[in-house]
Amino acid sequence: MDATDQSYAENRGAEPAGQPRVGVYICRCGGNISDVVDAEHAAEICWHIPGVVVSKVHTFMCSDPGQQSIIDDIHGEKLDRIVVASCSPFLHELTFRGAAIRGNLNPYLYEHVNIREQCSWVHKHDPQGATAKAIALIGAAVGKVRQSRPLEKIRLNNRRRALVVGGGPAGMKAAADLAGTGLPVLLVERTGRLGGKLVSPQSLFPTGIGSTQILEKLESDVRSTGRVEVLLESEISRVKGFIGNFDVTIRGPLGPSGALTDVDVSVGVIVMATGFQPYVPHDGEFLFNRHPGVITTVDFQEALACAPEGKRLVVNGREIRRAAFIHCVGSRQIEGVHEPGPDGRLNKHCSRVCCTTVLNQAIQVRRRFADTRVYDIYQDIRAYGRGHERYYSEASRAGVIFLRYHGDERPLVSAAEDQSVHVSFKDYLSWGETIDLDVDLLVLAVGMTPGPCGRIVDQLKLPRGEDGFLQEIHPKLRPVEISVNGVLLAGTAQAPMNLQESLAAAGAAAVKARAMLVKEQVELNPYVARVNTQRCEGSGECIGQCEYDGALTMVEESPGVRRARVNPGLCIGCGACVAVCPNSAIDINGWRVEQYDAMVDGLVLQNQPA
Ligand SMILES: Cc1cc2nc3c(=O)[nH]c(=O)nc-3n(C[C@H](O)[C@H](O)[C@H](O)COP(=O)(O)OP(=O)(O)OC[C@H]3O[C@@H](n4cnc5c(N)ncnc54)[C@H](O)[C@@H]3O)c2cc1C
Repeated sequence: MDATDQSYAENRGAEPAGQPRVGVYICRCGGNISDVVDAEHAAEICWHIPGVVVSKVHTFMCSDPGQQSIIDDIHGEKLDRIVVASCSPFLHELTFRGAAIRGNLNPYLYEHVNIREQCSWVHKHDPQGATAKAIALIGAAVGKVRQSRPLEKIRLNNRRRALVVGGGPAGMKAAADLAGTGLPVLLVERTGRLGGKLVSPQSLFPTGIGSTQILEKLESDVRSTGRVEVLLESEISRVKGFIGNFDVTIRGPLGPSGALTDVDVSVGVIVMATGFQPYVPHDGEFLFNRHPGVITTVDFQEALACAPEGKRLVVNGREIRRAAFIHCVGSRQIEGVHEPGPDGRLNKHCSRVCCTTVLNQAIQVRRRFADTRVYDIYQDIRAYGRGHERYYSEASRAGVIFLRYHGDERPLVSAAEDQSVHVSFKDYLSWGETIDLDVDLLVLAVGMTPGPCGRIVDQLKLPRGEDGFLQEIHPKLRPVEISVNGVLLAGTAQAPMNLQESLAAAGAAAVKARAMLVKEQVELNPYVARVNTQRCEGSGECIGQCEYDGALTMVEESPGVRRARVNPGLCIGCGACVAVCPNSAIDINGWRVEQYDAMVDGLVLQNQPA
């Protein structure tokens, strides 16, 4: 079906004949609800709500017997509308829609009422009030469902190809896994090389395997299927569309290697693997950029990889007899103590990889350059991953000296007369003693900050969390999905992660993407705007109000006759258009204005004093 075909939203199933027959099912939720809400009393009252012909209580409505009782009543009592009052719809709305389908009832003739989170849990000290509220909410749902019409899912053609944005470890893993399932993939990387932040060789915790080896394996997985098209020095200049139907313009090559050209492609899903940015200290922060002996862990990674073997470490031509690390630079920032970044934001988050990175680097220094003394100045230290704690013990055994500062008492760093770096702080491993150290090298353990991710973020309105990283829908239940359907998250674009976590997230994103692409058509909920073509006079008020680019357009149907048209793939059913139409010619499927009216009537009716 064409995504702009207006007929998608028309009622398909036959409207049940005669007066609606509603079944109300109240769940005790094993006491979670019935310890507070008087479920039996509520069920008794529900018999008096107009249209209700069945009113029952069950200990676990979601159990097989609970669902079966609904199915039996659909047939036995000829129910054509269902209301279940139980826990959050987030948990079981789909369960009961499934029961309706098995009873041969259109699943959109079912309403879910949350009387656990919204009644028994929040009003546990007021059983009477909680019961009255539950009855009122059920009354509203019965009112609404009586006005409901059968609906069908929207089905749109699926372009069965994936776009992965970002060719770091996470992007490579997502692309290789997807291609391994037989799907074509386009992998777009802004720089001239795949590999992201691991391109400079380093020994990686927690295995000690070199980054080069890991990248070679990932790249060989990407190339071996023959199904991944890699575009280097390229980025997304324009994107629009929706799940199954994204139109993307890719611009490249970005470097000096040729004339810029735009390529248009169509894809069904987009995996965001745009990675992180290492924190860059402000000019002068711990003498950064002002003293040659102050560098970051990122610079030190490279310096260590190139450092000539010998008794003593040499960095930037300086012989390093004493080195110190300071943790949490650009992470766990505190208001009033730290300066906000250019965007006015503080990085309050823990960057998770810095502690083990410091331990890894400190051990390497002590092992390779036995004459170099190493100080590790931390505020808290946590090597949380499996096998990471070993780095802490090994560093201790290797002679690394640990010292501890308080987050709101940052170490003071100044240039010493002999070209070394002077570090002064109170050490809380020795009960607040002031420590003064002169070192030849100060390494700042910089954190991870959100990457810019490119224009795609604004164009698709991808949400960011308070920390600035791309925000998943739910950290536990939907950890690699973002609120824009068809877009998935892989790796550190979402949050600080080590390599193992980045690759695990990328694998999960690939599985989700595959599930979205495997079908010929994508299915969307039918809760989108619908234009009544008899009433629409083409005022265009709705289009001015719509925030979702392309969701509503004005179409000239015949000379002089203009009407609004909904693109169901882009409409999210927010209802902003409904409120402004001067002819009341637009409504939301499943949430029509008359349904709201019926809900209000239902609430009021049940709140009447007996
Ligand atoms: C100093 C340091 C040391 C570390 N050491 C270790 C270690 O020893 N062990 C470990 O497990 N982890 C380590 N990590 C963490 C590791 O680097 C990350 O987990 C890993 O790089 C995350 O991969 P990624 O693909 O998510 O992001 P990235 O590596 O950041 O890759 C993102 C890619 O996307 C590209 N990109 C960004 N935006 C766009 C765009 N708009 N269009 C196209 N391309 C784009 C970038 O150019 C880049 O190639 C370390 C991190 C740091 C900072």
